[in-house]
Amino acid sequence: MPTRRTARGAERTPLEGDVDVLICGASFAGLTVARELAGTGARVLVVDRYEIGERQTSACGIPTKWLEAMGLMGSHRQTFGRLVIHTPFGTSALELPWTFSTFDYPTLCRELAAQGDFQFETAKVDGRTGGVVHTDRGDLTAPVIVDALGWRRVLGSGYQPPDAPLSRGLEVHPWGVGDDMELWIDRKYVPAGYGWSFPAGEETRIGVGSFDPRFHVKNTTVMLAEDLEREPVRYQGNWIPHRLRAATDDGIFFVGDSAGHCLPLTAEGIRTAFYFGIAAGREIRAVVEGGQPIAAALARYDDFNELHRWKFEAMLAAQRLVPSMPPRLLNRAIGAMSAKRFVDWSFNHYLEIAPPSFASAGPPRRAARRDPVELAA
Ligand SMILES: Cc1cc2nc3c(=O)[nH]c(=O)nc-3n(C[C@H](O)[C@H](O)[C@H](O)COP(=O)(O)OP(=O)(O)OC[C@H]3O[C@@H](n4cnc5c(N)ncnc54)[C@H](O)[C@@H]3O)c2cc1C
Repeated sequence: MPTRRTARGAERTPLEGDVDVLICGASFAGLTVARELAGTGARVLVVDRYEIGERQTSACGIPTKWLEAMGLMGSHRQTFGRLVIHTPFGTSALELPWTFSTFDYPTLCRELAAQGDFQFETAKVDGRTGGVVHTDRGDLTAPVIVDALGWRRVLGSGYQPPDAPLSRGLEVHPWGVGDDMELWIDRKYVPAGYGWSFPAGEETRIGVGSFDPRFHVKNTTVMLAEDLEREPVRYQGNWIPHRLRAATDDGIFFVGDSAGHCLPLTAEGIRTAFYFGIAAGREIRAVVEGGQPIAAALARYDDFNELHRWKFEAMLAAQRLVPSMPPRLLNRAIGAMSAKRFVDWSFNHYLEIAPPSFASAGPPRRAARRDPVELAA
């Protein structure tokens, strides 16, 4: 992957040019789209306001099978065969039919980027006029444009918190080890949402997510960390979209959080960013390899997105139901749902919303590389 480090601030060089595919956003979604285009010979440019892997955007918990399917086990930190759920009235341990793992964000991004074949530039994307993307380093054009910029959906019509279907999440990353992936469904921490503790090798990611964007999670994130006798240090937080959006608009592909691909209720958005990134990437690949018109690629990707709408809406219904349940009843329900047969059934269905087999089901990618894109500087 050719990268060029670009100085920040006054030393920034202007950037303008025309490429075949412009991918805005270099996190889970954007890097996955780029990966799918490796070996096509297309001139692919990826831009992000930060260097690849510089700013962690999540607690980095994912089904292990997805890490394996994407060839990203080099970033693996810890694996969990059970999920421990605490309520004010008890604790249940769900023995899962598959495992979750935590990973290291910078390593995963670097490994994912290395599977691609693109030019990378740091630039802040400010918006778009038609097919022209405006950045703080100049204007960029491309026949195919991807918005993988996260919840702001900068290249479409963005959401304005708190009046939008957004959750909010904040976590701290204290040093210290742990054995279990744990959740707290406890109104002491958040009226609608949950707290979590995800150990990842030498550090633990402890946070609180609120489905209600008006609830501020800072104080209770600190409270949860202190209750676990961990230092509330190294913060990471963001808005999390919890409603599926249109995956295309005005000729733009939206992937990951920009399309609302994060799952409601669980706020799992990494594997869905991979999943929809692969789907978009395959359609774009068919364009750059010569056969498919861009309009057909947009329509097919849009159809693929819509096929999943009912699943996202079902998860959203569950997200609304859980906080409305009396805590004692919820505790009893979780206890009843810990039965192995129910856990297997529900978690297998949950994994099927974006199954890891999708990563290996596509056409094989060739290893050929092309020269770096020449951009005016
Ligand atoms: C606290 C917290 C914990 C979470 N934990 C998990 C978890 O454990 N597991 C899980 O599956 N999901 C988790 N999520 C959700 C998950 O992080 C997101 O769904 C996922 O990051 C979406 O990936 P993405 O690539 O679409 O967007 P992002 O990861 O948000 O990436 C967007 C990229 O765009 C760049 N960008 C944004 N705006 C601009 C701009 N104007 N110009 C240039 N670049 C820009 C950013 O720098 C970033 O690199 C968590 C979310 C939060 C907030």
